[in-house]
Amino acid sequence: MKNFDVIIIGAGASGCMCALKTALKGKEILLIDRAKIAGKKLMATGNGRCNMTNLNLFPSSDFYNQNIDNFLNRHSHEDTLNFFNEMGLVCFADEEKRVYPISNSAKSVIDVLNNQLAKFKNISISLETEFEDIEFKNGIYEVITNVGAFSCRKLVIATGGNTAQKVLDKFKIKSKPFVPSLVALKTQSTKIVENIRISPAKVTLFLKDKKISEIGEILFKDNGISGIVAFNISSYFARNNNYNGKIEIDLLPNHTEEQIFDLLKLRKKLNLDINKMFDGIFLPNIGYLILNNCKLNENRKTAQLTDSEIILLAHTIKHLSFEVKSHYPNHQVYSGGVLIDSLTENLESIVRKGLYFCGEVCDVDGKCGGYNLQWAWTSGYIVGESI
Ligand SMILES: Cc1cc2nc3c(=O)[nH]c(=O)nc-3n(C[C@H](O)[C@H](O)[C@H](O)COP(=O)(O)OP(=O)(O)OC[C@H]3O[C@@H](n4cnc5c(N)ncnc54)[C@H](O)[C@@H]3O)c2cc1C
Repeated sequence: MKNFDVIIIGAGASGCMCALKTALKGKEILLIDRAKIAGKKLMATGNGRCNMTNLNLFPSSDFYNQNIDNFLNRHSHEDTLNFFNEMGLVCFADEEKRVYPISNSAKSVIDVLNNQLAKFKNISISLETEFEDIEFKNGIYEVITNVGAFSCRKLVIATGGNTAQKVLDKFKIKSKPFVPSLVALKTQSTKIVENIRISPAKVTLFLKDKKISEIGEILFKDNGISGIVAFNISSYFARNNNYNGKIEIDLLPNHTEEQIFDLLKLRKKLNLDINKMFDGIFLPNIGYLILNNCKLNENRKTAQLTDSEIILLAHTIKHLSFEVKSHYPNHQVYSGGVLIDSLTENLESIVRKGLYFCGEVCDVDGKCGGYNLQWAWTSGYIVGESI
């Protein structure tokens, strides 16, 4: 069985960062991935553009569901930019401070990572290699894969999502269930408004003891809501491990209910068919949705609307209610994973010496906008630095 100083399972964002940082110490490293190229998953990120980090990062507690300031202080978004800059990647930030490669292609990120990995003679990469089990005997980890077994004293789990669950169970690592997060929300049918975008919209989630709101773009799907705002709201459902609850959408967050009442009242004078009364404000099918919600007869004229009906319409535009029942497939991250307080400040298991965790397998999840990849870079760096 071939022995290495360090084996890293998972050549995603965190695993590649960890390998590059560890390699500087001259250690013999084996980087394993079941994919055909290192960093392959990055290709799917940021709609193929890879939103690598975000310049808004501090205070980080605004962007993550956990407090990870201690870690970000050791490797910040600026350190990430420097790291990639030194490898030749040119980046830019958009108006929301999201950072992308200037090529607008995730392939550039994958290319520079692979170029750098290839420079280190002490990094062996075994692709199309699926880890199946891990044994621990006399201070040595044995990693059993489909292409054979390898051993090491220090093992890093950087497998991203939930594929390491059996390792967590086997080694009694404390974790929270992996629950899909940053995902479109499934509600009652929204077929009538499918593919319509509203920007900005405000989505409010009603929890037992508080309300949480997010403003930005939403995209209606056939049975629910997608878009960054819906994704960010999904993380609260994920953390409760229960995709059930009420949300409200404010379709005109920059107008008060009184202003909307005035806008709609003016339309009485236009004496339009009621189903045309939202023309000039919303696309027709959004209008139908509002009227359906108010149960107003579509065969009337706007001149016939009473003040209390207009109040109801204005209220509905600000409080369109949906019941979240589940989520769509294709989530961006998992909420849950290895509890940070079961790890040392260097992300080594407290109960299992020599076993490290970085990236999404840890119970750290952030909002959309580059924060999850920043955690992958930060955590990969910290493990690599300390190992
Ligand atoms: C569609 C999509 C878009 C996203 N867009 C963004 C974005 O723009 N910005 C952002 O910040 N975040 C984004 N994310 C989230 C981001 O991709 C993750 O947070 C990040 O990739 C986690 O890095 P990681 O190294 O922990 O895991 P990963 O990048 O998932 O890497 C894990 C690696 O482990 C390998 N692996 C898993 N199991 C095994 C096994 N049994 N044997 C061998 N290898 C294994 C996988 O093949 C993979 O290469 C997006 C996610 C998705 C799905």
